[in-house]
Amino acid sequence: MSSQKQFIEESVNSLSEKTRQIARKIWEYAELSYTEVFSSAELIKAFEQEGFEIESDIADIPTAFKAVYTVGTGKISCGILGEYDALDGLSQKAACSSREAIIPGGAGHGCGHNLLGAGSFAAAVSIARYIKENNISARVVYFGCPAEEGAGSKQFIARAGYFDGIDFVYTWHPATMNEVQSKGSVAIMGANFTFEGTAAHAGGSPHLGRSALDACELMNVGVNYLREHMLDTARVHYAYSDAGGTAPNVVQDHAVIKYEVRAPKVKNMQELFARVVNIAKGAALMTETAMNYEVTMAFSDYLPNKTLAVIADRALKEIGAPCWEESDYAFAAEMLRTYSKSTLKDIKERLGEIFPPEGLDELMAKPLDSVIHPFNMNEKTYESGSTDVGDVGYATPAVNINIATACLGNVGHSWQNTAFSNSETGMKGMLTAAKVMALSAIYTLEDPDAIQRAKQELKLKNGGKYICPLPDYVSPPIGKY
Ligand SMILES: [Zn+2]
Repeated sequence: MSSQKQFIEESVNSLSEKTRQIARKIWEYAELSYTEVFSSAELIKAFEQEGFEIESDIADIPTAFKAVYTVGTGKISCGILGEYDALDGLSQKAACSSREAIIPGGAGHGCGHNLLGAGSFAAAVSIARYIKENNISARVVYFGCPAEEGAGSKQFIARAGYFDGIDFVYTWHPATMNEVQSKGSVAIMGANFTFEGTAAHAGGSPHLGRSALDACELMNVGVNYLREHMLDTARVHYAYSDAGGTAPNVVQDHAVIKYEVRAPKVKNMQELFARVVNIAKGAALMTETAMNYEVTMAFSDYLPNKTLAVIADRALKEIGAPCWEESDYAFAAEMLRTYSKSTLKDIKERLGEIFPPEGLDELMAKPLDSVIHPFNMNEKTYESGSTDVGDVGYATPAVNINIATACLGNVGHSWQNTAFSNSETGMKGMLTAAKVMALSAIYTLEDPDAIQRAKQELKLKNGGKYICPLPDYVSPPIGKY
């Protein structure tokens, strides 16, 4: 065992009880985007106890913060990301395999961000202990990042320059499998399109009316024709947020439609968004209405920094999968059985693409990932979702590690996920993730050549500078998202 690994194992094990307690507290608070007051305070208190310096309310987001630990002049700076926001409607009893909300309709940690925030805490503290013990001139910075499920925070933190001078970043996400994430995730931009027309009696004087609702519908028709001429991996979604009223006999003089545009790279996304704007202009021209739009959110695409991914892959293999016990397997099997027959069939099929077919029945009976899936250097596909981690990856070399905290095949953003996120299974995954991140960071800190290569790789991607996809007028939508 490498001495670094031994140090990290001991450090994270010694932090186990404290880290579990933080994860449980954040899980109980279950605070939604930008309202994570108690959750961020819980983490800040724990970092202060470990001798970190705190800067709170960063990038004009009250629940965003950074916690910094410096040794010497802090020559190399390592970043660790933490999240702690919950999801609406996913309240659920801890480690409970039947649907039982604690507060019906209330919020719950259905994406496991309580584990994410707490696990990253244990990683950051362990890195701090290591650089102190070995007197390495370095700095570890934990970024407390709210609202990943809302309009995000990391792009605002990046735009405010908080990643300038950070040499590299590691993060993780609770998952069903153990891997350094090879797949990218796509860029996204969301905007509200408002049309203004003229009201009139739809029966008596229709010729005097100019319908904002017609404009929205023509915009949708235009976008439907656009769909044939976009990249396969691009997506355009829409929803009416104001259909202009409920009376069919009044020509609607106002209407608002919300659009979201996704594409593999931030550049593709911006080009596609501009085409959607042109269609909206066309719809306004056709209906003689006025159109304006306001961008509300945007994330850059995420692509793993391959130099860091190779290091993290090595660290993950050394640490190994979480050590599951029979009770974890039994709970996971019980949870898997909560899905319908057709979902289970689909899960089995998808697992068959990853695991050897002869072991599938056993895997469905003991559905916890106990192997490491190697990083795929040549992966070209994208996850269909989007994340604000993408913006961190455009500002500094960054990589995400997935660690199993739930049963194989488990569906994200589900009550099952809330139950796993405060279970022994979830906690074991969280502590494994802390070890993998800390060990990856230490190996990187001790390899200045790798840091240079990681930066060169970034330069090819961002041209040497992070450009936020959000227009300057967009500020964090605190209380509005
Ligand atoms: Zn998440």
